[in-house]
Amino acid sequence: MPSSPHPATSPASPDGLDVLVVGAGFAGLYLLHRLRGLGLRALALEAGSGIGGTWYWNRYPGARCDVESMDYSYSFDPALEQEWSWTRRYPGQAEILDYIEHVADRFDLRRDVRTDTRATAAAWDGADRVWRVCTGGGDAFAARYLVMATGCLSVPKAPGIDGLERFQGRVFHTGRWPHEEVDFTGRRVAVIGTGSSGIQAVPVIAEAAAEVTVFQRTANFSLPANDRPLAPGEQDAVKRRYRERRAQARRSPTGIPGRKADRSALDVSEEERTATYREAWEHGGLFGMLRSYNDLTTDADANATAADFIRARIAEAVDDPATAEALAPRSHPFGTKRPCIDSGYFGTFNRDGVRLVDLRAEPLAGAAPGGVATARREYPADDLVLATGYDAMTGALTAVDPCGRGGLRLREAWAEGPAAHLGLAVAGFPNMFTVTGPGSPSVLSNMVVSIEQHVEWITGLIASARERGAEVVEADPEAQRRWVAHVQEVAGATLFPRAASWYMGANVPGKPRVFMPYPGGVDVYRDVLEQVEASGYEGFRLSRA
Ligand code: NAP
Repeated sequence: MPSSPHPATSPASPDGLDVLVVGAGFAGLYLLHRLRGLGLRALALEAGSGIGGTWYWNRYPGARCDVESMDYSYSFDPALEQEWSWTRRYPGQAEILDYIEHVADRFDLRRDVRTDTRATAAAWDGADRVWRVCTGGGDAFAARYLVMATGCLSVPKAPGIDGLERFQGRVFHTGRWPHEEVDFTGRRVAVIGTGSSGIQAVPVIAEAAAEVTVFQRTANFSLPANDRPLAPGEQDAVKRRYRERRAQARRSPTGIPGRKADRSALDVSEEERTATYREAWEHGGLFGMLRSYNDLTTDADANATAADFIRARIAEAVDDPATAEALAPRSHPFGTKRPCIDSGYFGTFNRDGVRLVDLRAEPLAGAAPGGVATARREYPADDLVLATGYDAMTGALTAVDPCGRGGLRLREAWAEGPAAHLGLAVAGFPNMFTVTGPGSPSVLSNMVVSIEQHVEWITGLIASARERGAEVVEADPEAQRRWVAHVQEVAGATLFPRAASWYMGANVPGKPRVFMPYPGGVDVYRDVLEQVEASGYEGFRLSRA
């Protein structure tokens, strides 16, 4: 990182950029579209060689979204949603990327994206009231506003596995998967990690590989995706009432149409509860199960009923009782770590050549030249798949480590944990916004709904500032302190803090343990943002300098 607070020394951007966007995934692309609509000049810097963000990088076998395709898509243009057709209930990576590419072409967005361009440093220049941004290739940009559309799960965490460099086979990270097809035919594959990525990849890898050894540190809750082709007519029926469905999504707790049940899991008979869970298991997907009762994320006893139900399904699916028991999650309440949805994950352990290594029973020693070693023995492998996760929510922001007012670095400002007003802006960092930043519903919601909301709100604020002749917009420290305290208070009333999850920063050694997303609901959060806007942006300072 540069020591100077002003990494880019060019006096101003030669072409007078109003907004520099970092990232060209769902968020960055929509920002370009909105900003253009306001008559502003915007440019997006994208580290990848193509657009798409998460869906550009995550090409691992089985990569699929856990939100249904009809909901995991932009709603801002009614014609767009009518003309695009999805093939399956849950969209796979390639189909989502096709969709993003279609949107970029349809709205002619590519001309304002610079791919293969990683923002490496950013500094607020208070004299000129611009952000100066440097890239890995040595380019410098200046713009009045900086919007970080860098994604919540875009920077892989260091795997934390000793001896990786000694391993002589191929090594893949799920979030940095090669573009060319990876053939596992006849190979012995070791997979480390059993979060969503590992759980999706294992069944597909096992179809080709001779052997798959899955190294599990924490057993995870996973529900069947029940993915299927969209039936004829099903999509048309949604499209006929798409506007209504989108409106419902925006006013729902998770950004997915439908509401939480209004009863406790403990207020119904066991028979009724089991029937409800079975319905959710067979049809409801991840969010259907979580919404079955209103207290699954707040009451440990209620939660245990759902956890017991899922553990019973795992025991049914896996033939070997010892493997089934090792796969049964017992270390955290259901939903407090991001649950997964899978296509045949548990049943995969019934295949010849697929085995589970429970790292709680035999801790990982590290990689060896010919495989992966635990405290007990070495497991031979030709290929190693790291499904070890991300420096979530803050990693992509602290990697750039913007330098704000008075030389304040974001990493310093967040040394005790991320603090952002409404998850949108950070006190001390004028004219910088974060899309789905910490303190917003983000990863607890349908990301596309939350992204659209943030993009519309941020661009609305920029437009309003310009109308008022304000060149500087900054979160008020006291308003930010209150919001951060509110997020922690709401989180404290839930079971979330009981899990050592990436929501808590617990997967990255040394990262402060703070619950990062806002668990109050997309609907409640929307009300808050609307009130702030209606008040003339209370909690933000708009000034000429
Ligand atoms: P993750 O949920 O953080 O899972 C990482 C896994 O690797 C965990 O099982 C973790 O164990 C294990 N691990 C990490 N370091 C390890 C080490 N040194 N030794 C042994 N085990 C280690 O990461 P992810 O699966 O990539 O998923 C991240 C998030 O991305 C998901 O929660 C989800 O929000 C999103 N995602 C979504 C989809 C989807 O839409 N379907 C798919 C993929 C990802 P511990 O649990 O013990 O730390």
